[in-house]
Amino acid sequence: MLVDSHAHLDDGRFDRDRDKLIKSLKEFGVDLVINPGADLNSSIKAVSISEEYDNIYAAVGVHPHSAKEMDEYTIDILKSFTNRRKVVAIGEIGLDYYYDNSPRDIQREKFIEQLNLAKEVKLPVIIHSRDANKDTFDILKEAQDGTLRGVMHCYSGSVEMAMEYLKLGFYISLAGPVTFKNARVAKEVAKAVPLDKLLIETDAPYLTPEPYRGKRNEPIYVRYVAGTIAELKGISFEEVAKQTSQNAKRLFNLV
Ligand SMILES: [Zn+2]
Ligand SMILES: [Zn+2]
Repeated sequence: MLVDSHAHLDDGRFDRDRDKLIKSLKEFGVDLVINPGADLNSSIKAVSISEEYDNIYAAVGVHPHSAKEMDEYTIDILKSFTNRRKVVAIGEIGLDYYYDNSPRDIQREKFIEQLNLAKEVKLPVIIHSRDANKDTFDILKEAQDGTLRGVMHCYSGSVEMAMEYLKLGFYISLAGPVTFKNARVAKEVAKAVPLDKLLIETDAPYLTPEPYRGKRNEPIYVRYVAGTIAELKGISFEEVAKQTSQNAKRLFNLV
């Protein structure tokens, strides 16, 4: 059975078939899904989906795109959700210097605020980092007091950087791009990161893997990410499925 460690099932693109999709995950080999928030509304929606379905867990957090929308009350509202049983992480949080939808200084400030929240409530973090590897790493290193745990979601950096994140105590999560033919670096990362430090995800509805590239992504396609990793590492699909599921369960403390 597979765990999709990152899918936005709250997204509007799932409105017409969400219930059917979630109920059929098991028959397609997907055991559990973590639904991260991207702003306050999607966090609230993720929590309510997780409370409706046994096989969905939620994370709450504000994505760097929406950092500028955070006000003095946002952290307290996020915090109020963290004692819900199905809320297993703070995320997704981080830095995105590719789109720069929020000013970079605000992105950094809100990232740090949410890391502090994670440490306070003792939950792992789901980190989004795009074209911001140095600042993301420096902030995480500074924040690491021995208690911070988390995952670099949809990791897109170098092998060297991946090794630094492992040393910092983080997991590396690979998504659909590892299945793309021209994804040379992502394939190297898949080979280099030890299996007990790897998570897999879809980031649905975005980043659809081959052979469904161009269509709406769904958690069941996480099998193509697992299959590609198995091929690259020269091990069985079952081994990848089993170990990445164990890793997700350990990191997020899933029952
Ligand atoms: Zn992301
Ligand atoms: Zn995401």
